[in-house]
Amino acid sequence: MDRSPCRRLSCFDLRAFPVSLFALTATPPKPAALPSLLGLTPVEITAFMAEMGEPAFRAKQVIDWTFAKRAVSIEAMSNLSKGLRQTLAERFVTRTMTISTVTGSKDTTRKFLLKLNDGRFVETVLIPANPALYGEASDRHTLCVSSQVGCAYDCKFCASGLAGFTRNLTAAEIVEQIVQVEAYSGERMDNLVFMGMGEPLANYSHVTKAIEILNAEWGIGIGARHMTVSTSGLAPQIKKLADFPLQIRLAISLHGASDDVRNKIMPVNQKYNLDELFDALAYWRSKRKQHITFEYILIQDVNDGLDQAHRLAKRAKGLDAKVNLIPYNTVEGLPWVRPSEERQDAFRDVLLNAGVKATLRREKGHDIAAACGQLRLRQETELGIIESPIPEKRITIHAGA
Ligand code: SAH
Repeated sequence: MDRSPCRRLSCFDLRAFPVSLFALTATPPKPAALPSLLGLTPVEITAFMAEMGEPAFRAKQVIDWTFAKRAVSIEAMSNLSKGLRQTLAERFVTRTMTISTVTGSKDTTRKFLLKLNDGRFVETVLIPANPALYGEASDRHTLCVSSQVGCAYDCKFCASGLAGFTRNLTAAEIVEQIVQVEAYSGERMDNLVFMGMGEPLANYSHVTKAIEILNAEWGIGIGARHMTVSTSGLAPQIKKLADFPLQIRLAISLHGASDDVRNKIMPVNQKYNLDELFDALAYWRSKRKQHITFEYILIQDVNDGLDQAHRLAKRAKGLDAKVNLIPYNTVEGLPWVRPSEERQDAFRDVLLNAGVKATLRREKGHDIAAACGQLRLRQETELGIIESPIPEKRITIHAGA
C-alpha cells in the first residue's frame, strides 16, 4: 500500500478545492508532476516544438540545453525567448529529483540517496576507479543505477525487494541519476551498471529508452559497451534485449547452479528455470560477441557447496561466460551469512581449475553497490512511507563484514 502523503496529495488538482480544505491538510498539495525533458528523444522534442509553431533550429537549441549543456532549469535556457521558456515550463521540467544524502568520500564508494518528486527514494552508487569489473580495462567511474522503486522479484537475500514493489522509474528518472551524480561530483561517468534497486528487464521500455538517451551523442554520450544490464533471469526479456540494437553488456544474477538451490533463494527461477534461462542466454550469445557475466553471491550452506561450483563451471564454460563471485553482504534481519574466506577460495578454485574466468571480489566498493536498496528502505521506513518489513529492527549495512 502506498503510504506516502506526498503521493496521495499530488493527485489533487489544486484548483478544484476550496482554500479551507488546504488548511486541514498537514502538507500542502503539490501540483501534478510534469514530464522531464531528460526522458525525451530529439524526435519527441522536435515534434512538440513543431506543434508550438517553432522552427527546427529552436528544437535543436532545446535539445542542446537539455543534454549537452545539462541545463538545470528551463529558465536557464538563455537564448530562448522568455515567452517560449514560459510555454515550455508549463509543460516540462528538467529536474525531478534532489540529492537527499550522500555517504562515503571522494576516493571511495559514494552512495547517493535520491528523493523523487512523489516522495519516494532510490539509490545510486558511484564506484571510482574500479578496474575491469565488466570487461573494461580503463573504467574510472562506474555508476550503479536503479531502475525501479522497490522490486517485485523477492530474492530472499536482497534488501531491495523486502518492502515489495512500488513503481517503475521513468526513462527520465533513470537518466537523471547520472546527471545528478555528474553535477555533484564534477566527474563524467564512463561506465554504468543497472545493478541498483529493481529489475531492469521488468521495466523494459523505460530502461531501453534511457539507454538510448544515455548512449546518444546528442544525449549523455556513454558508450554502449560501457553499460551493463543485470537481470535476475527474465528469459523472454533477455531474448528481446538480444535484438536491441545497442551493444550493451549483460550480467545474470545466477546465485545457484541447479534448480533446487536457485528455487530456494530466487522465486523467479520457478517461472523461468535454468534450462529456459540458458536457452535465452544461448540466443543472446548467437546474436552478440560480448561475453556474459554471471554474478554469484556466496551464501554459507545455501549455494557455496563445491557441487554447485562444478555445475557452475560447466554452465559458464558452455557459454564462455565470466563469473564474478561476491561474498554475501549481510542484511540485518535476514538469516544469511557469508562463508569463510577458505570456503570462498575453494569455490573459486574449482572454477579456475576448470578453465573458467572467475574473480572473487572482497573489496567494499562492490559490496556496498550490491547492497543497493538498504538505504532507501531505512529512509522510507523512518519517514513512515512504508512499514518496516523487519519489525523493531533497523536495516543496516555491514559491507565487508
Ligand atoms: N534485479 C537485477 C538488478 C539488481 S542487481 C538483478 O537481480 O540482477 C543487484 C545485485 O546485487 C544482484 O546481483 C543481486 O543479486 C545482488 N545482491 C542483492 N543483495 C545482495 C547482498 N546482500 N549481498 C551481495 N549481493 C547482493
